[in-house]
Amino acid sequence: MHYELSYNIIRRHAAARHEGGDLTTMIASSMTTTRRFGGLLRRACAGVVRSSTSRWNELRLETRLYAIIVLLGVLPAAGAMIAKVTIDSFTRDAAALDRLARGSISLQRIDGLVNAVVAESRGIYMSADWKAAEPFARNVSAKLAELQKLAQIRASEVIASQSSNVEELILRLGDFIRLQTELVRIAGEQGPAAARAMGDNDANRATRTTLDDILSTVAGAYDRESAEAQSKIGPKEQGFLASLTVLALLSTLALYTGLTLVTRGLLVPLLETKDSMLRLAQGNLDIIVAGQARTDEIGEMARAVHVFQDMLIERQKSHRESELLSELNEWLQSCKSLAELYEIVGKFLTLMLPDCAGSLYIYANSRNVLDNVKSWNGAEVAQPMRPDDCWSLRRGHTVVRDDDGIHFDCAHVDPTRCDDYCCIPILAHGETIGMLHVTFHPDPAWDGATRKEAFARQRRLGLSCAEQISMAIANVKLRDQLQDQAIRDTLTGLFNRRYLLETCHREFSKAARTRSSVGILSIDIDHFKKYNDNHGHDAGDVLLRAFGECLESSFRGEDIACRLGGEEFIVVLPGASSDEAAYRAEELKASVESLVIRYLGRNLPKMTVSIGVAAFPDSGDTPEAVIRAADEALYRAKELGRNRVERAGAADPTCENASPTLPVAAPRALGMDLVDAAPERERVEPTIGTAA
Ligand code: GH3
Ligand code: MG
Ligand code: MG
Repeated sequence: MHYELSYNIIRRHAAARHEGGDLTTMIASSMTTTRRFGGLLRRACAGVVRSSTSRWNELRLETRLYAIIVLLGVLPAAGAMIAKVTIDSFTRDAAALDRLARGSISLQRIDGLVNAVVAESRGIYMSADWKAAEPFARNVSAKLAELQKLAQIRASEVIASQSSNVEELILRLGDFIRLQTELVRIAGEQGPAAARAMGDNDANRATRTTLDDILSTVAGAYDRESAEAQSKIGPKEQGFLASLTVLALLSTLALYTGLTLVTRGLLVPLLETKDSMLRLAQGNLDIIVAGQARTDEIGEMARAVHVFQDMLIERQKSHRESELLSELNEWLQSCKSLAELYEIVGKFLTLMLPDCAGSLYIYANSRNVLDNVKSWNGAEVAQPMRPDDCWSLRRGHTVVRDDDGIHFDCAHVDPTRCDDYCCIPILAHGETIGMLHVTFHPDPAWDGATRKEAFARQRRLGLSCAEQISMAIANVKLRDQLQDQAIRDTLTGLFNRRYLLETCHREFSKAARTRSSVGILSIDIDHFKKYNDNHGHDAGDVLLRAFGECLESSFRGEDIACRLGGEEFIVVLPGASSDEAAYRAEELKASVESLVIRYLGRNLPKMTVSIGVAAFPDSGDTPEAVIRAADEALYRAKELGRNRVERAGAADPTCENASPTLPVAAPRALGMDLVDAAPERERVEPTIGTAA
């Protein structure tokens, strides 16, 4: 891309020039392009830095630490290597310079000696005789000896480019030394004139000129080489400095990266993870464990802490659930009625299965339908359903409807709704007594797995609840049964005498508080003995049961019908005045008269009853007094011909707790005496026979 940009710049410049565009336009255009290019470059660099930073962060902590350690270890080694290479280079350069300097000095010395020898030889030439020439000759010989030594130039001092020239120089120096030595010898033997004649000629001058030329060539070469070597030392020093600077920068960078890694990449996340662990240990489960997205070891640690957190949350949930279950159990155990039990179930299951709407169905006594006895958490109260409407009741085990597997919807569930649900049969002592239906309403934010897990969990909990509910219902039913046995008469199902007394005391105190009245009907079947005698004891029992049913159907739910024993009954009418009670007694008398009772395929003779009516507070202040008054009225009814209703008179205010005095047979005593009093009534002679 950069090449392309550069190419564009050049092309635009060329075009501007070609089109005769002025310089300003060209410069402006170039500057704009340069700015754009700079921006692109900056962005590209930032991108590279970002991507390498993220790649660096993705590396494992171990790798990053080793990388930093290696980098910090490599940098000093690189520094030492650079220093060694530089020192070696400097040493080599210094040795080369030294060699060049020594070479130059030798050459200068040779040049000086040659010039000195030539000058001294001129002295010989100028001398008139040997005596005058001898000092010059001695000087020449001495300098020639020195020159001879210098001519032995050490090969190590010879620079490569000048080796042939140096050889040439040595040859020419040899020629020169030999010529001058000869000249001194001839001057000594034949005199200075002969020496001048031998030496002062063109051939010798040419030798000298050749020597000078080769000397200056070699010296020039040495000077050049020396200058060149000198000129290389500066840049080398700068290069060394640059290398050291780069090394220092790299060291700083490595140090910074190391510090950043230790603080940001190691210390901070480690402290955060430690913090999360401490808070978890303190029981704070609402924390957000930081660093789970990291790919390094700290990320692994954070994820492990998160797993612990999940486990603790799970354990806390289970703990809470078992607490609620045992609490539910306690509450259920203390239930006195099924209504209470259903209420408790609704409350607890709302708490325990917060994501489920629920309904409890219980078999009706007829066992052909199940009543929706309780619904909670938004579930609508449904109509009674048939046992066949639920697959769980048909199959005898829990049925789950979710997205997995094959399932068939239960008929009691609205087919237009596609919620997950489950039906759990409630069994007690091997008998199905009902069904718990829960519909799952998950949080819309949950993903598939969370949703599935939550439903499974709530199902499990629902199952545990169902077990407890079943036991509790069985207990309450058993208790009801036992209580019924204690307070009800087994033959007719009416309440017994014990219950009558309890109820009377309760109702009388309530009536005293609310200033209302309580009606009492004392009932005796007329000539019952004859039924037994004429049709058998079993027929008598059938008659008693039929009369019991008649009593129950003739009075309201709050009225209490009791069988005292034999064929004697009492009905307590809370809130009824004496008039109302007498009216109800007449109604009952009429109903009994119209009763048709079948026994062994034939109708039993019609039955009649005599009824004595009394009321609180008109007939007495206590249950005993009022019942006694009713009994007295009953006896009066018997005496007056049976199949009739007689009302008790008003109580005597002068006699505390006394019943009105009426001319009747001895009244039934209360309490334990109530039954014992029955034989006394037998003494009353029946006068009217109403049986058919
Ligand atoms: P009255 O009109 O004076 O009341 O005459 P009655 O025959 O009804 O009264 P009586 O007290 O003479 O007879 C009551 C009989 O009821 C006597 C007893 O055998 C009978 N009896 C008592 N308890 C039962 C019972 O549980 N079943 C049956 N079949 N008979 C019973
Ligand atoms: Mg009787
Ligand atoms: Mg009787």
